[in-house]
Parts: sequence; C-alpha cells; structure tokens
Amino acid sequence: MFKNILVRFINILHIEFLGEKIKCAICGEKIETTFLEKIKGTYIKKKTICSNCQRKYKDKLKEKIK
Ligand SMILES: [Zn+2]
Repeated sequence: MFKNILVRFINILHIEFLGEKIKCAICGEKIETTFLEKIKGTYIKKKTICSNCQRKYKDKLKEKIK
C-alpha cells in the first residue's frame, strides 16, 4: 500500500523535474497531464496509454502492449 504511493510519487517527480514527456505506448501521441499529474489516460504494465487508445482498444489493451 505505502509502497504503491511511494512509487507513484517517484513517478510524478520524475515526470515533473526531468521534463519527461509522457507518450502513449500504442500510438505515440503525447499524453497531457492535469494538475497533480493525473494523466489523461491510464497505466498498463507500467506503460502509459492515452484516453483515445483506451477507448479504442478497451479489453484488448493488454494484448496491444507487450
Ligand atoms: Zn494512444
């Protein structure tokens, strides 16, 4: 539980301070973030997926990411 929060926090720092752009693992589009680094998309297997692909592939998302 605590570990998950910590990991999330580190990810936020990483993104925020290294200026790393978040891209969709499927289509490669840049994923926008909202305040407090909530991405407009989702995380699957530590990869980021944009909301478009999320909508497009739904159940097949996990197959798409390997
Ligand atoms: Zn995408």
